[in-house]
This record gives sequence, structure tokens and C-alpha cells, in this order.
Amino acid sequence: MQLDELKAELHAAGFPAFTARQVFQWVYHKNNQDPASWSNVAKAGRERLAALYGLAPRPILERRGDAGGTRKFLIGLADNHRIETVLIPEKGHYTFCLSSQAGCALACAFCATGAMGFRRNLSAGEIVSQVLTLKKELGDYAGRINLVFMGMGEPLLNYENLARALRIVCAEDGLNVSPRHVTVSTAGILAGLDRLEHDFPLVKIAFSLNAPDPLLRSELMPISRREGLVGLLDYFRAHERRQRITFEYVLLAGINDSPAQARQLARLIHGIPAKINLIPYNPNPRLPFRRPDEAGIEKFRSVLLEKGLTVVTRWSKGEDIRSACGQLAVLTEDC
Ligand code: SAH
Repeated sequence: MQLDELKAELHAAGFPAFTARQVFQWVYHKNNQDPASWSNVAKAGRERLAALYGLAPRPILERRGDAGGTRKFLIGLADNHRIETVLIPEKGHYTFCLSSQAGCALACAFCATGAMGFRRNLSAGEIVSQVLTLKKELGDYAGRINLVFMGMGEPLLNYENLARALRIVCAEDGLNVSPRHVTVSTAGILAGLDRLEHDFPLVKIAFSLNAPDPLLRSELMPISRREGLVGLLDYFRAHERRQRITFEYVLLAGINDSPAQARQLARLIHGIPAKINLIPYNPNPRLPFRRPDEAGIEKFRSVLLEKGLTVVTRWSKGEDIRSACGQLAVLTEDC
């Protein structure tokens, strides 16, 4: 719930006008979701709040950490679905990699979450609660965080809840994260991009491009048959954002990693202010793809650099704990 909504609801329930703000301060600023301990709220009010709202963050079922400090959390939802959230330490801040859906409907051929299928959308509360959980893990960390919607799911196919979550996350009364420090990664959903542009012009977009020609892209990413690559790139050309767009490109050996494909990619995105993140494929034993060798990755990168593009090779963190890009998949019997 956003602050205004809570204000209206609590007002109707007979609470004093300032209670909603107190609730927000406890829940978001103090990261305390236990009304019984809210000392500045009258006892009867605390009991009613506890009865009215389920505020406790969902439990962590499993934690895994890698040598570099990246940590992955398996979180249990009320209806027994499970999601994963990843905490990545960076210089001077943390990045939280959040899930927007349990599973994913897009079935990208190379992605472990895609292989597990779609379970359901996360509520705004389940999205925001991942941030609270990770902050708690860091001892109620109050420093800078970057949020990236690169965990499970396609955020733009859960737009309503994503937007509600972003409003709470970015509000001063909420988690007070600058929208400039939020990145929404998408396989490319035009209607959702348009809404995001309108509602959150400062939020960064990362677009999972992954193949330089429409046919190959449609083979790897079935959504591309409906949301065509050319149309998406035209959209990015026509709607220059305040922050450069990031093109993500997963490098798959023998499939999309040739120098000719690098040249094709450069031509395709010509004229769009962007940076390219090359993500060497993180293998999954169930999927038939391989990561190119280092020389191949470097060659691909150098072709793009020669074309004057900004390119970063993203060696995913958390590989050894299966929490690198594209590896989030809750291991259950049916996936
Ligand atoms: N649905 C959104 C966000 C989740 S995926 C999207 O498509 O952008 C986040 C990123 O991980 C995407 O760029 C995706 O292409 C990439 N990815 C998926 N599987 C991967 C893998 N096995 N190795 C490396 N990157 C992968």
C-alpha cells in the first residue's frame, strides 16, 4: 500500500491521522515489521494493526554465499511458491537483484527460470519485501542500494505490481531509493516500456537483446515473435531516455558470438545512445548451451569497440552458487 492509501484506510478505520506515517516509518525507515514493538503507537492501535495487516517479511528458506560475497536467498511465499533474490556487494554500495514473478512465462531457451515455467505474478508487497529482507540481512543497512529487476520473471508483464512497488521503494516515506538507481531489465514488452517511460522516466532500462537478427532472436526468445526486435529498436530510437539504455547480450558459443554477428549488432543499434553489457553465458546442466572461450568473447567485444560502442563484459557474480544471471530456478520436482 502507498502512504496515501494507508492514510485513507486507517482514517476510515478510526485511527489518528498520523498513524499511517508512523507505520511507514517503522516498516520502511526502521525496517521493523512487528507492530507489538512500535513504541510510539498506542497499545490498542498496535494490536489492531497487527490484526489488520500481514507485515512480516516472508521467511528465508535457504541462504547460499559465494567467495566474492554474493549471496542468494530462497524466499517462501504464503502459497508455497518460492522465489530467489540475490545480494551483490559492490564498491561503496550493494546491488539487490530482485524477482518480479515466481517463474517466468517467456521460456527463453538459454534461461533456467524460463525452463521452470510461469507460476504467478508477485504482489507489490512481495517485491518490496525482498528489499526489506536483504536490508535486514545486512544488519538494517541504510547506505546506498541499487535495485535491478534481473531476477526471476519479466517485470513488464507484471507492470501494475512493479509500478506500485517502485512507488513505495522510491518514495521518501518509503525506502527512499533514487529512481536513477533502479534498473528494469526486460525482454522487450512495448506496452510496458511505454508505461514505464511515462510513470518512471528516471528508471533505467536494460533490454535483453541477445541476438542481432530477428529470426535467431525469435528462436532463442519466443516472445520476440510477438514483440518484434525491429519494432522495439524503433521504439528506443524514437524515445530517447534520460539515462542511456543498456543492451544486454548473452554470449552463447557458436550461436550468437561470431565477429560477423558483432558487426550486425553494431549496425542494428546504430544511433541509439546505449551501452552494451556482454554477459558470457552461465551454463546450466539442463540446457544445451555453452559459454564461448575468452578469446572469442574478447574478439566479439573488440569488434563492437572498433565501431565506437561502449561495451562492458559482465562476468556474472555468484556463479558457484548458481545465482549468476539466468541461473535462478527454484529446484522443485517439476522443473
Ligand atoms: N526477463 C527479464 C529479466 C530477467 S533475465 C529480461 O529478459 O531481461 C536477466 C538477464 O539475464 C537477461 O538479460 C537474460 O538474457 C540474461 N540471462 C538469462 N539466462 C542467462 C544465462 N544462463 N547466462 C547469462 N545470462 C543469462
